[in-house]
Amino acid sequence: MAKGYDVAVVGLGAVGSAALYALSKLGARAIGIDQFAPPHDRGSSHGDTRITRQAIGEGVEYTPFALRTNAIIEEAEAALGIELLVRCGFVFITRDDLGTAHHGRFGFLAEASRAAMNHGVPHELLDAEELRRQFPQFHGLAGDERAYYEPGGGYLRPEQSIDAMLQLARRPGVDLALNTKLLSLALTPTGVVIKTDRDTYCADQVIMCTGAWLTRLAPPPIARALTVHRQVLHWFSVDDSSCWRPGRSPTYIWVHGLNSAEQFYGFPPLDGAVKIATEQYHVECDPNENMDAPSVEESKMMWHEHAAGRLHGVAPAAVRTATCMYTASPDRRFVIAPDPNDARVLYVSACSGHGFKHAAAVGEAVAHRALGAATGLDLSTFALSPERIERWYA
Ligand SMILES: Cc1cc2nc3c(=O)[nH]c(=O)nc-3n(C[C@H](O)[C@H](O)[C@H](O)COP(=O)(O)OP(=O)(O)OC[C@H]3O[C@@H](n4cnc5c(N)ncnc54)[C@H](O)[C@@H]3O)c2cc1C
Repeated sequence: MAKGYDVAVVGLGAVGSAALYALSKLGARAIGIDQFAPPHDRGSSHGDTRITRQAIGEGVEYTPFALRTNAIIEEAEAALGIELLVRCGFVFITRDDLGTAHHGRFGFLAEASRAAMNHGVPHELLDAEELRRQFPQFHGLAGDERAYYEPGGGYLRPEQSIDAMLQLARRPGVDLALNTKLLSLALTPTGVVIKTDRDTYCADQVIMCTGAWLTRLAPPPIARALTVHRQVLHWFSVDDSSCWRPGRSPTYIWVHGLNSAEQFYGFPPLDGAVKIATEQYHVECDPNENMDAPSVEESKMMWHEHAAGRLHGVAPAAVRTATCMYTASPDRRFVIAPDPNDARVLYVSACSGHGFKHAAAVGEAVAHRALGAATGLDLSTFALSPERIERWYA
């Protein structure tokens, strides 16, 4: 007879590990299942750092998720005596806020400002001259830049955050099945039967947080809505750190041209190197296949098209690279939707390239939903409504 649980969480990355932690705090009988042993480098949650900000340019409605994530992360930091959130500041630089979209959003700077005003997030709006004065590590400004600066933004440490959530989730009544791959779900009147390559379990509710693999595991129309894209991270060494002063080296997104490809994002130096990256949504990849390793050419292109002449004191040869997967919806917003045939199974895709800063709150909210507990966060904003689907395919 299969072991029974109140809730099973499948996929223990950024969202699933946080969901399991929340279920543990609520005293649920829960199991977390992952095909690997998170944190790992085969999904969407690796590469040392993730930008976080509180006033969310992708939409003011995301801000409560970012604020709640910070609170959960701070709770984990206090419980374990570690640092997961580094508040080094965040700056969004653009030249044409209405003409160039970021994460599918035109007017990103205006929306971030609106979110900051609505939620009382300390921030400054800067022109090119003020940007130059405050952040001399950013070179080559055209002069027509405008920027949103949030001193309380910064970065999260993704691998350590997942590890922390899983450590804190452990208690009697909460089981972990690692290196255990979900094969199928069967919806029966007495529970959802979860067949894996090791064992079979049964749960009243299942939360599917399988990231890029939702494209293989979720029913249509959820799977059809999502595409998976290979992204490359590049680290370049800093040979002159005089401009990258501690306390004045924020994370950043820099839209430097009027074409949507003319943007990149980056982090302050860590261990003598800065990590920078772009995003691409043209080429899809298969999460079940190994991605091509980044080529020297890709790093050269990254350097010449974005870093050269813009980042002070950074050397042109990449010292490290990595690949990672974005799971994107057509509008770049999250998709959180129940199985169309049975609301006991919830599919949670919190990625589209900007999910980490919200992941702990999304995980907590879906855990509360599974137990019928109240949550102060509005998950309906990510529902797969007929109107939303119609907009995508219109
Ligand atoms: C390069 C890159 C940069 C990013 N930068 C930022 C950023 O700066 N700021 C930000 O907020 N967000 C950023 N994001 C987005 C953010 O990292 C993701 O939204 C988030 O990590 C997604 O978490 P997840 O839990 O959905 O997926 P994952 O963390 O990938 O977890 C999915 C888990 O499901 C498991 N799984 C899959 N199939 C099965 C199965 N059959 N059985 C059992 N387990 C299974 C996998 O093993 C995996 O552990 C970035 C993403 C990438 C790739």
